[in-house]
This record gives sequence, structure tokens and C-alpha cells, in this order.
Amino acid sequence: MSMNIGILGGGQLGRMIALAAAPLGVRTAVLDPSDDPCAAQVCKHFRGEFDNYAALYELAKWADIVTYEFENVPVETARWLEERVPVFPRPEALEVCQDRLTEKNFFRKLGIPTPPFAAIDTREQFDAAIRDIGLPAVLKTRRFGYDGKGQFIIRTKADAEQAWTMLGGRPLILEGFVEFDRELSIIAVREPMGAIAYYPLVENEHRDGMLYRSLAPAANTGEELTERAAEYAVQVMTELDYVGVLAIEWFQDGPRLLANEMAPRVHNSGHWTIEGAVTSQFENHVRAICGWPLGSTAAVGHSALFNLIGEKPDWPTVLALPGSHLHWYGKYPRDRRKVGHVTLTAATAEARDSAIESWEVESRKIPE
Ligand code: AMP
Repeated sequence: MSMNIGILGGGQLGRMIALAAAPLGVRTAVLDPSDDPCAAQVCKHFRGEFDNYAALYELAKWADIVTYEFENVPVETARWLEERVPVFPRPEALEVCQDRLTEKNFFRKLGIPTPPFAAIDTREQFDAAIRDIGLPAVLKTRRFGYDGKGQFIIRTKADAEQAWTMLGGRPLILEGFVEFDRELSIIAVREPMGAIAYYPLVENEHRDGMLYRSLAPAANTGEELTERAAEYAVQVMTELDYVGVLAIEWFQDGPRLLANEMAPRVHNSGHWTIEGAVTSQFENHVRAICGWPLGSTAAVGHSALFNLIGEKPDWPTVLALPGSHLHWYGKYPRDRRKVGHVTLTAATAEARDSAIESWEVESRKIPE
């Protein structure tokens, strides 16, 4: 059955969706404003800004279904497209995820625990929220923040002044700083008839606000924690009549899971599923939006995912590591830019951990 999927955004997520779609006989095209987005190396490219209606019209004419690979696509664009072609996940999901305050209120409405938070538009609200929530706290822009951008950790009164100078004037949210034990994420997928599947919980380590490493499945989660994260994901997806892959990031604090944020798309902490699960998150996203049966989300052994940030490794060195899989996105390396990832897979957690040690030795040799 021939299908054309249009993807809003032509970065590495679009590229990996395109690569997963090809074996299913699904053709893909990305809409992206740049001349040479990395996904265009593996699929068709419509060049245009996300509010260029001539380009959107071309995409809608070509595509049977439209999806997106990043959540800052204007909601009006998704709605305009939806009048012409099915758009999955539905634009409501974009709307909720684009604004940290709307997102946290949405979690609260569903009874999903979050860190304490308050909306901040004025200096008075900022001072009051610091009194209520206490320090440390994190001040974040409500919109367009990612990879730690647009946020400031406040530990002292002096930090508060600096944070306000940097971010004040924009719509903000203040969150209590969670002294978490670890960060986890769940990736779940829902198809149009309502069937849902979810991957095992993943443990994520961030450095400078960016994902550095994921371990999958996360150790010592027990069935209870996994079931709880899955139940919350089911609630979110059911409420939004969601179709496609959704990721929710959590702070684990003892037995508690607090929702940090969610992404209405395939997610960096799910890249290990390409080799480490029976069906990858990318293939399951394609299956879901096409209305096809979902594939098994079971893990195959144990995986570790390392992002390549701003630097190019030596191919033979990486490929010589046991169980290693290199994904290079075809992007020019720049500071703080995700340019690829490496997944290490092994039959046991011990074998995976010893592969991690080798990777850490080798990756230190990557020139800055
Ligand atoms: P975010 O963009 O909100 O996902 O934040 C990026 C990273 O900053 C998170 O993955 C955490 O490591 C850290 N962070 C964000 N918000 C908080 C918080 N309220 N408490 C503790 N750490 C946080």
C-alpha cells in the first residue's frame, strides 16, 4: 500500500523517520526552511518556512498524512494542513506541549504529579513565587526553550536578580528545583483505533541541559514504577486522542514520579530502540500514523545511547567497539549541536556496562 508522509521539520528526527518508513514502502518528504536539512539527504525536500502557505500547499498536495518532528511548528500551520490532509498527532497536542505552563496545567488536570510551579509575568509574581516555592528553583521561558536553553537555576537572591535580568519580560514559569534521584522517560505510541504500546522506562543523564546518555531498560524500576509511568502516558494520550509516538520525561524522587515535560514526537531518549527494541520508535510512529498494527516494543538485551554533541568521532574506532552502532546525521559539527549518536547493545547489563567503559575511554580521544 503506497503512502506518502509529509514531515514538518528536516532534522535528524525527520531523517530517522524517513529511514524507518522506507522498508514499509512509505515515501517521505520534509518541509524545512533551510537549503540542506539533514533529512533531505534521505528523502524529498520541500523548501519553505513553516508559515509559507505556498510550500505548505505543495506538501499537502503530495502527502497522504502529515506529521512533525519538532514541536515548535506554528499551531495555525498544523490546523491549516489538517483541513487538507490528516495531521498526526493532532494539533491540540502541539498546542499543549508548546507552552510549559499549559503543559503543567494539563498534567495537573489529569492528576499527574509535577514539580511545584507558578506562572510569572511580572516582577511581583516572581518575588511571590520565590517566597511560595522556595529556593532552589528554576526559571524557564514558557515557550521555545529546548536543550536547557531559556532557563536559569536560582539558588541565591543574587541568582534571582540575574535570572530576572536575563529572562524577565517574557512569559515565564518558576518551578521548584527537584533534587531527583534520577531522570527517566517513557516512550509510548497510540494508533487511531486506540491501541497503545510503550517501551521500557529509560534512564537519562543530562549534561548542560542536553541529553548526554540513556540506559535502556532503566535498572531497578520494578513493575510498579513502569506501570505508573505507562498509566500516566495512557491518560495523556487518551485525553488528546493522540496518534503517533509521545515521550514523557520524569524526575524520580524516591517512589515518586514527577512529570517534567512531554514531547509530541519521536524522542532523543528513544534512539536506542533502532537496534535495542523489536520495533523502533520511528517505525512505530510510521505504523501508528498510517493506521497499521503496532510492532512489539520489547527491548532486545540492554542498550546505552550516547549523543555525539558538536564533534565527529573516528568511524573505525567507534565501529570496533563491541555491539556499537553509529548514526551520523550528516550535519556540520558545531558547539552544542547534536550531530549523531552511538548505541551500544549487549545481551546483559554487565556486558553493556563494560562496552560503556570502552566507549568512555575512546570518546575522550575525540578532538574538541
Ligand atoms: P527541560 O528543558 O525542562 O527538560 O530541562 C532540561 C534539564 O534541566 C532537565 O532534564 C533536568 O536535568 C534539568 N531540570 C529542569 N527542570 C528542573 C527542575 N524543576 N528541577 C531539577 N532539574 C531540572
